[in-house]
Amino acid sequence: MKKYTCPICKKNSKDKFSPFCSDTCANKDLGNWLTGRYVIPGEKITDDSAFDNLELIDTNIKDKLDLS
Ligand SMILES: [Zn+2]
Repeated sequence: MKKYTCPICKKNSKDKFSPFCSDTCANKDLGNWLTGRYVIPGEKITDDSAFDNLELIDTNIKDKLDLS
């Protein structure tokens, strides 16, 4: 099995939270998206499609976290 490193804190990731080590780091990553840290320079969000994408990411992370 391939080993991943948490992109947030660089610890070994856990399968459940892959590629993160914990839900804390997964949420931090999501926070980065929401605050626009990962927005590509020069690319402006001008329509609702950007928010559709954010919802998609949010759903994916929730699936990985197995929240219920
Ligand atoms: Zn981490």
